[in-house]
Amino acid sequence: MPGKTAHLAQRMSRLGTETAFDVLVKARAVEATGRAVIHLEIGEPDFETPAHIVEAGIAALRGGATHYGPAAGLPELREAIARQAGAFRGMTIRPSQVVVTPGAKPIMYFCLTALLDEGAEVVYPNPGFPIYESVINFLGAAGKPVPLLEKSGFSFDLDALRQLVGPATRLIVLNSPQNPTGGVLSREALETVAELAQRHDCWVLSDEIYDRILYDGQHVSIASLPGMQERTIILDGFSKTYAMTGWRLGYGIMPEPLADAVARLMTNSNSCTATFTQLAGVAALEGPQAPVEAMTAEFLRRRNVVVEGLNAIPGISCTCPAGAFYAFPNISGLGPSAQAFADLLLEKYGVAALAGPGFGRYGEGYLRLSYANSLENLTEAIRRIAQAVAEL
Ligand code: PLP
Repeated sequence: MPGKTAHLAQRMSRLGTETAFDVLVKARAVEATGRAVIHLEIGEPDFETPAHIVEAGIAALRGGATHYGPAAGLPELREAIARQAGAFRGMTIRPSQVVVTPGAKPIMYFCLTALLDEGAEVVYPNPGFPIYESVINFLGAAGKPVPLLEKSGFSFDLDALRQLVGPATRLIVLNSPQNPTGGVLSREALETVAELAQRHDCWVLSDEIYDRILYDGQHVSIASLPGMQERTIILDGFSKTYAMTGWRLGYGIMPEPLADAVARLMTNSNSCTATFTQLAGVAALEGPQAPVEAMTAEFLRRRNVVVEGLNAIPGISCTCPAGAFYAFPNISGLGPSAQAFADLLLEKYGVAALAGPGFGRYGEGYLRLSYANSLENLTEAIRRIAQAVAEL
């Protein structure tokens, strides 16, 4: 029997989505017809969670960590995060600044909800993680996309940034290393954001979820620049670094008054993050980091194969990504739109990739390929893409 027609609240028409999940459904439908698909659409490490973390989760369950915990997270995990995240960024972080959430995504949702009144101006990267724009629109805030420039390794267009940030700006969103481009914000970009944020007294939401998956140099958090910790929210978590996407464990680091507000939003929504996953998180932070290094080394090998392979295809050029596990090739010289080419790749050649406009309007002319897949599959995917181009 059909269910009752849902007359959804008006605000639901403003809520977006992540195309990765839609493409996964389409790819499964293609697979159901008997065609093998190489999955380059989903943004999660193809590695297993390191064994010592799994064991800690099991031990926590056996030890009775099956009850509610504090809304902001278990004290031992907040302490471990404050220690480790502070040492990694060269700054002092108090456990009271840390809020633990089921995955890092809720930090985005909760902080934007806590800070943005209707009409508040928010500057955010485009192309960028689609949930920023979705939540900004959902809250009725005024989103101001800043283009990322391919010629500067997908760092911000600083002229556009200076034009967009002003007295009405409430928040600036940063993401480095970045999804979908794999780009890293230059030191100059971070310093420009810091200067603008202080001049106009606005917040910065710094999404650093890919901070350990960096191929060159050291991660720089904007929070470590002078005067920035008091106005920055660091978003980070366990999903990518420790291959723990399904565990749902993330956190935010922010000034205490905002941390209290976010904890109140947790009380009103999730109550708390699962306690046994939090204890596994302590093991992740305090145990050996060799699996993280091994995973990043493998991503680097794959990145090199993918970038070289893409650049060898006539009509495609691919900037070498400095971090994360995405390649963002420019396909604007091929003719078809990014969406048409992505559809063709999936339906005729069995390669699932995402079209750049799924990450915002400045993503037209690009594809996002996740190289969280085996070298063998990646090599075959490049071969199929080359064939698709040759047959256009
Ligand atoms: N931020 C960015 C830029 C991401 O790409 C993702 C996941 O794809 C997240 C945040 C969310 O991470 P989590 O799975 O911990 O919620």
